[in-house]
Amino acid sequence: MSATMRSAIVIGAGVIGSAVAYELARDGWSVTVVDKAGAPGQGSTSSSSSIVRFNYSTFAGVVLAWESFHIWLEWRTHLGAAQSEHIAEMMNLGVVMLDVPVMNTAATTELFQRVGIDYEIWDSKDLAARVPGIDVGKYWPPKSISNAGFWEDAKEEIGALYTSDGGYISDPSLSAVNLADAAKRHGAHFRFKEEIVAILKSESRVLNATERTFDLRKKLWRF
Ligand SMILES: Cc1cc2nc3c(=O)[nH]c(=O)nc-3n(C[C@H](O)[C@H](O)[C@H](O)COP(=O)(O)OP(=O)(O)OC[C@H]3O[C@@H](n4cnc5c(N)ncnc54)[C@H](O)[C@@H]3O)c2cc1C
Repeated sequence: MSATMRSAIVIGAGVIGSAVAYELARDGWSVTVVDKAGAPGQGSTSSSSSIVRFNYSTFAGVVLAWESFHIWLEWRTHLGAAQSEHIAEMMNLGVVMLDVPVMNTAATTELFQRVGIDYEIWDSKDLAARVPGIDVGKYWPPKSISNAGFWEDAKEEIGALYTSDGGYISDPSLSAVNLADAAKRHGAHFRFKEEIVAILKSESRVLNATERTFDLRKKLWRF
């Protein structure tokens, strides 16, 4: 590492930590990623439904999701991965977001228009035709199976907000592995089965990484 090279320690090799490590390493940072698990993407990333959708409540959130979707579409290029590398896939099947009171369709579609995301508003007949077999009954609010209301028939019907873009990532853990491998290609170093137990600060600054100690027996890092 050169004297002027900036260095960073990333805690966690989930999809977020691995992406951060990749971006920093690509920008020339010296990066060390520490994760208490045994491999990338073993935390909440491994449980993710990995749905890629655009209906978020802020302009920044929608733009970020829309931009990320296009990166997912060009995943191999984004990673700089060889054709032989096994990578996650963006399943671009479209998204049907059912009308529920917590979803403000007017606010969402206004953001979609600002960002330039195509959408369709479906009533219950459209929904039944476009998603064959779906029950278009309105059962809101959700009820526990022990609640007598759980078995009641729906009294109203719902529609949906549809975007032809969006879908899900075939394997969220693999996407974190892909990002970690891409980061490694740019020199990032990964340490697994090691846990950060404290971040020591001096006058609001995180202490320099050279001041860390590493307990080999416990495999715990202190900074
Ligand atoms: C059931 C479920 C469904 C979801 N569905 C979706 C979805 O459809 N679409 C979507 O966009 N998002 C979804 N999410 C959210 C998404 O999975 C998370 O936002 C994302 O995976 C978070 O990534 P992360 O890297 O921040 O966290 P994680 O994947 O949890 O990674 C954190 C890592 O840090 C490590 N770590 C933690 N503490 C320490 C420590 N002290 N020292 C060393 N290592 C440490 C952990 O071992 C872990 O590997 C879902 C999440 C869940 C649980």
